[in-house]
Amino acid sequence: MTANISEVLSRVPTGLLINGQWVDAQDGATFDVENPATGEVIATLASAGEADAMAALDAACAVQDEWAATSPRERSAILSRAFDLVQERAETFATLMTLEMGKPLAEARGEVTYGGEFLRWFAEEAVRDYGRSFPAPEGTLNMITRRKPVGPCLLITPWNFPLAMATRKVAPAVAAGCTMVLKAAKLTPLTAQYFAQTMIDAGLPAGVLNVVCGNSASAISGPVMADSRLRKVSFTGSTPVGKTLLKAAADNVLRTSMELGGNAPFIVFEDADIDQAVEGAMGAKMRNIGEACTAANRFIVHESVAEEFSKKFADKIAALNLGNGLEEGITCGPLVEKKAQDSIASFVDDAVEKGATVLVGGEKLEGAGYFYKPTVLTNVSPDMRVTQEEIFGPVAPIITFSEEDEALKIANDTEFGLASYVYTESIDRMFRVADGLEFGLMGANAGVISNAAAPFGGVKQSGMGREGGAEGIEEYTTVQYIGIRNAYANK
Ligand code: NAP
Repeated sequence: MTANISEVLSRVPTGLLINGQWVDAQDGATFDVENPATGEVIATLASAGEADAMAALDAACAVQDEWAATSPRERSAILSRAFDLVQERAETFATLMTLEMGKPLAEARGEVTYGGEFLRWFAEEAVRDYGRSFPAPEGTLNMITRRKPVGPCLLITPWNFPLAMATRKVAPAVAAGCTMVLKAAKLTPLTAQYFAQTMIDAGLPAGVLNVVCGNSASAISGPVMADSRLRKVSFTGSTPVGKTLLKAAADNVLRTSMELGGNAPFIVFEDADIDQAVEGAMGAKMRNIGEACTAANRFIVHESVAEEFSKKFADKIAALNLGNGLEEGITCGPLVEKKAQDSIASFVDDAVEKGATVLVGGEKLEGAGYFYKPTVLTNVSPDMRVTQEEIFGPVAPIITFSEEDEALKIANDTEFGLASYVYTESIDRMFRVADGLEFGLMGANAGVISNAAAPFGGVKQSGMGREGGAEGIEEYTTVQYIGIRNAYANK
């Protein structure tokens, strides 16, 4: 490990954040964090158990009323300072993400920009949390609505975007006046720990944000969600875990935001600009090594342009430089863990056994780290797992179609409904297809569309609720309606 990396790691608090203090777990438990590019342990953190999780919730509940009473301007100023600090600390954040998650440094820097923007956006939204004023139809009441913080929240984040998934939840919760217990993924907790310290450095009062990561996710979420003081759970992760949490949320009728898995179609029509589509496909598939909920999972390409698209796409994929993301010139990193590497291999093996052709890639990289060669598959059929399940890795299956209706049918033939992509030069077709696609997001001639200003979220089993945009803060507020007697009515 170079001195520089040891120095970066030494900035990360290793305890649990409870009521403004970094503390050890009550039973002294710890867990290790690995670098997926080398398999080396890079840090050891305190591992929260039930008692620690409850201490975190106690801290959040104790300051909820006081925090809700702060002015929107005060909360906005904290978020603005946090935004500035994230920019100052960008290189540390980026290095941490590459170290614990594997994405190339250039992409990790991109995530610092993307993730940081949620702090700036919600600093701006904090002071614009408007209600409405309107008359009762009968004229008997003046009706007003106000937005109030929903209350203490449990925020659970995945490993694939260690900074952005935390800022996308913490920033609107701060803006709305909610207190929080944050549980980051055990594979990538370092960025979240450093981000929490950054929030404290920006002036966030003790107890507003508490962070408890650990070996057992359910030991944290279970008791916290069973406590009736908790008012909301916001989860980003896989659909099966989301369903478990939805069931647990029913007992206390918690507000829920669920950002779950995807199976994004990427449709290329015969009238598309093929070079632009290939460029977009690289972003939609290879951003984050394919480990993104928005990742294009199925390339649905018109038969008349399939050969050209496949060849150009495969050439670009073959030119990617696979390796340790901290090294110069690396454009594709390792998968996050051995289990993920094995899972990708099994997807490709299943497709090949059922008749798919490997245009490029198709195997693990031997040696240390969890690398899989970026892969393009053709002759793909609907019985293959690559078309039915979320791949979550650098594998691009290409399916062909002949009619627009057929493309839509294939695209919608999934229980998921998060991202979708359409390449066409026809504006009429673009809107017609948007009408037909059962997805919460659509990129039109664009392969990467995530943005702090946009409402992000899915339909069907991809979840409910929206993060980012004007909608993002609403997830952390409840509407109170006040009906005021109209003294002049019926005179
Ligand atoms: P995951 O296994 O569902 O884990 C997500 C988070 O949930 C982690 O913090 C995990 O903790 C925690 N968790 C796991 N089991 C739990 C349980 N029984 N109770 C409470 N918490 C539990 O998902 P992942 O592998 O980290 O992330 C990949 C998935 O996230 C993909 O399906 C992807 O599509 C989805 N995703 C969706 C979005 C979106 O916005 N829609 C964005 C990014 C990712 P541990 O780390 O301790 O296991």
